[in-house]
Amino acid sequence: MIDFTLTDEQRLLEQSVREWAAGEVAPFVRENDRTHHFDRDRILGGMARLGLLGVSVPAEYGGAGMDYICLGLASEELEYVDTSLRVIMSVHAGLNCLSLLTWGTEAQKKKYLVPQAHGTKIAGYGLTEPSAGSDVRGMQSTAVRRGDRYVLNGEKSWISLADVADHFLVVAWTDPEKKRERDPSGLTAFIVERAFKGFTSGPMKEKWGILAGNTGWFKMADVEVPEENVLGRIGEGFKIAMFALDQGRYTVAAGATGLIRACRDASVKYALERKTFGVEIGQHQLVKEMIAQMESDYQSARLLWMRSGWLKNQGLRNTRETGLAKWFATVASERAAADCVQIHGANGYSDEYPAGRFYRNCKGAVIYEGTREIHKIMQADYLLGYRVDRPTRCELPPYGERLKSEV
Ligand SMILES: Cc1cc2nc3c(=O)[nH]c(=O)nc-3n(C[C@H](O)[C@H](O)[C@H](O)COP(=O)(O)OP(=O)(O)OC[C@H]3O[C@@H](n4cnc5c(N)ncnc54)[C@H](O)[C@@H]3O)c2cc1C
Repeated sequence: MIDFTLTDEQRLLEQSVREWAAGEVAPFVRENDRTHHFDRDRILGGMARLGLLGVSVPAEYGGAGMDYICLGLASEELEYVDTSLRVIMSVHAGLNCLSLLTWGTEAQKKKYLVPQAHGTKIAGYGLTEPSAGSDVRGMQSTAVRRGDRYVLNGEKSWISLADVADHFLVVAWTDPEKKRERDPSGLTAFIVERAFKGFTSGPMKEKWGILAGNTGWFKMADVEVPEENVLGRIGEGFKIAMFALDQGRYTVAAGATGLIRACRDASVKYALERKTFGVEIGQHQLVKEMIAQMESDYQSARLLWMRSGWLKNQGLRNTRETGLAKWFATVASERAAADCVQIHGANGYSDEYPAGRFYRNCKGAVIYEGTREIHKIMQADYLLGYRVDRPTRCELPPYGERLKSEV
């Protein structure tokens, strides 16, 4: 039986993230956005102090040991204040930490996951390349075995935290024949450190959204990666990349839900202040319609991501449900942000109000972690029977099981 009543732990987490983000981050958001400044110490320091960088990582690996609903709640609260904060949860806590937790060896978890959960090291996710986004099999990066190492060459683009993260989960072709045939069982996942020789990174130029966030590229020129940094087995890279997306998309869904709420609250505030034709604009039915739609979208999006979180807690496969939650929430957040600008009239067209930032920030999530079109195709394919999720060798540890093992 699904119960959406928050537990004491979940409520406390939600409250503490809300208070921290409102008190210590919100006052600086506008300026950081205007100056394109990634406020590293304030944001990463604060998130580490709150335990958010390892929120759903078990205590034995240095995490806060909270359930997956807490990961969603943190994502929602952070994006309520600014999308750049939630992006950190998506790539570090979602895509990377949970993949290491699930697919990593004990040695990898000790070496990489523990410092990530503490927040002393930050992690990213490198799948996209200049010529391959939705079409993952179109990637060009290669990894060639040389003795006890793999030599990686290639370029990854549009990578969140590219100039910030210490390690990346990187996918590359280890089988040239399968690369030619576009057979994804020729892809392998690696843990690549920024400190490895031949690794360089830089920012994406002229990005127009999530301006207080860091998004960039990295290149690997004969980067030697020790074989103990292969994540999972040789040939499991595609599966791991897709597994990671189940976790990242979950945080994106919850975050976009927070953005809808931010649009709703800003719109209500403005609709009660601004007067036209002798009344508050909230009195006009067409304005009410936009606000009502935001509420409907907010409540629906929240139920969808919570269902995913619940499935994760139970250890049940949730690719389909998480994809739907991500697709619905991000598309609804775009609608909410557009209407938030509309309700603000010309003032919405100025960065004096937050509506314009919401509008710029929401669009990225309709593109990353599966575009709107890819998610539509996925949902139709499930219904038509063209797509079936098969069990993978490793599955996200259920929350209940983890609790038992920690007692
Ligand atoms: C702000 C931001 C942060 C990002 N962070 C990361 C990150 O940390 N790590 C990472 O690996 N990547 C990241 N990405 C990249 C992102 O995942 C890709 O941009 C995304 O997968 C889409 O790929 P693409 O841009 O190459 O678009 P394309 O795949 O070239 O798609 C272009 C258009 O064609 C449509 N299309 C493509 N194929 C089909 C099809 N079969 N049917 C119908 N329509 C189709 C798409 O929906 C889209 O509208 C980020 C992107 C952004 C904008």
